[in-house]
Amino acid sequence: MKQYDVIIVGGGAAGFFTAINIKEKNESLSVAILEKGKEVLQKVKISGGGRCNVTHACFEPKELTEFYPRGKRELLGPFHQFMTGDTMEWFENHGVPLKIEADNRIFPQSNSSQSIIDCFLNATHQLGIEVLKNTGVTAIDKIEDVWKVSTKESEFECNKLVITAGSSKQMWKLLASLEHNVVEPVPSLFTFNIKDPLLQDLPGVSVQNVEVSIKDTKLTSTGPLLITHWGTSGPAVLKLSAFGAILLAEKDYQYQVKVNWLNCNGQHALDVLFQMKKKQAKSIIEKYSPFETISKRLWHRFLEVCAINGQTKWADISNKKLEALAEKLTNTVFHAQGKSTFKDEFVTAGGVKLKEVNFKRFESKLHPNLFFAGEILNIDAVTGGFNFQNAWTGGWVISETIAYS
Ligand SMILES: Cc1cc2nc3c(=O)[nH]c(=O)nc-3n(C[C@H](O)[C@H](O)[C@H](O)COP(=O)(O)OP(=O)(O)OC[C@H]3O[C@@H](n4cnc5c(N)ncnc54)[C@H](O)[C@@H]3O)c2cc1C
Repeated sequence: MKQYDVIIVGGGAAGFFTAINIKEKNESLSVAILEKGKEVLQKVKISGGGRCNVTHACFEPKELTEFYPRGKRELLGPFHQFMTGDTMEWFENHGVPLKIEADNRIFPQSNSSQSIIDCFLNATHQLGIEVLKNTGVTAIDKIEDVWKVSTKESEFECNKLVITAGSSKQMWKLLASLEHNVVEPVPSLFTFNIKDPLLQDLPGVSVQNVEVSIKDTKLTSTGPLLITHWGTSGPAVLKLSAFGAILLAEKDYQYQVKVNWLNCNGQHALDVLFQMKKKQAKSIIEKYSPFETISKRLWHRFLEVCAINGQTKWADISNKKLEALAEKLTNTVFHAQGKSTFKDEFVTAGGVKLKEVNFKRFESKLHPNLFFAGEILNIDAVTGGFNFQNAWTGGWVISETIAYS
C-alpha cells in the first residue's frame, strides 16, 4: 500500500497544473498523479490543432464568465483568484512565452502544444511529483479520514484526493457511488448538419456578423458563420451549440435554425434593395452584392433560390420579388438534422453537479478533502481557450487550499 499526502487522479491539464502548484507552494507534501493511459497529457497534445490554445485575452472576470454556458455563476469568484492574466504570467514564469492572436486566442509562441507538455513534465520531474502511468483508478473508498484508491494491481492511500479525470463515465460512476450526483453528459461544440439548396456546393464561404437562432427557443447568437460540406459552422454556430447543448440533445438534434444573414431587420434589407432599384436601375442584379458581408457567390445563390434571373435589370424586378429576397436574407429557416464534430474538438457538457461543490476551494460539499478540477465538473465553455482556463483556475484554487491547510 503506497501512501501520499495528495493523490491526483488523471494526468491531463487539470491534474498536472494542480500537482505542480501544490508542490511549488508546499514542497513537504508528497504528491502523485495516477494516469490510466500509457501516456499523459494526450488532450493537451492535440489541443488547438496541435498548438494548444491555453487561454483567452479577456481580462475581466465577469466578462470571462459569459463564455461558459455551464459554470458561469460558479467561476466568477474563482476567476478573481486566478484567471487569464495569471495564466499568462504563470506560463511565462515557467519558460513558455505566449502570444495573443488577432481573435484574442492565446497560444505558446512556439506554436506547439509540446512546449506546454515539456513545461509540465520538467516541472513534475524537478519537484519530485510521482507520475504513475497505466494506473487507472477502479475504486475509491473513504476509511475514516483516509482515502483509499485502488487500481487493478495496487492500492494507494492519501489524505487529500483530487479528481481530474476529465469526461470519464467510469469516474462519474465511482463518484456516484460516493453519493455525488452527475449531470448526464451530452456533446457541446458541434456544427449543424443541414441539407439545403441555399448551402449546396458553397463550402468555405463565410459571412461575418450573422444572427443564428433556434426556432421556438430563446437560443440565439451572433458572429461569423461558415458554410461547410455538411451544413453550417463558424463561431456563431459553435456558440449556439454550446449554449443549446442540453436542449438540442433533448430534440435529438432535429430542429429549425433561423439565420439572419445580415443581422439587421427585414425592413432595413428591403430599403437597401429598393435603393438599388432606384440608383442602379440599369445594372443587372447579379453584377455585385449590395451587402458587403455577402460575397458575390452567395449573392448569386440567393438570387437563384428566390427564382430571380441574375441578368435582370434592377428596374425590372418586381417589389414582390425584392420583398421575398429581403425575407430570405434576414430570415432563412433551415431544418437541421444531426450534428458533426468541430475539428475533432469534442467537449462534453455534464459532470459533477455544481451545487455539490464549494467553489471557494473546489472541494466536495459531501466529502471533505475530495476535490475536483477541469472537465470532470459540469463546466464547459465555447471554443477559444476557455476550457483550459477552467482547468487552470480549478487547479490553482485547489493548490492554495491544499498547500496552505
Ligand atoms: C481535439 C481537442 C482540442 C481541444 N483544444 C482545446 C484548446 O485549444 N483550448 C481549450 O481551452 N480547450 C481545448 N479542448 C478542451 C480541453 O482539452 C479540455 O477541456 C481539457 O483537456 C480538460 O482537462 P482535464 O484535465 O479536465 O481532462 P483531460 O485533459 O481529459 O485529462 C483527464 C485525464 O484523466 C485520465 N483518466 C480518466 N479516468 C481515469 C481513471 N479512472 N484513472 C486514472 N486516470 C484517468 C485520462 O486518461 C486523462 O489523461 C480541446 C479538446 C479536444 C478533444
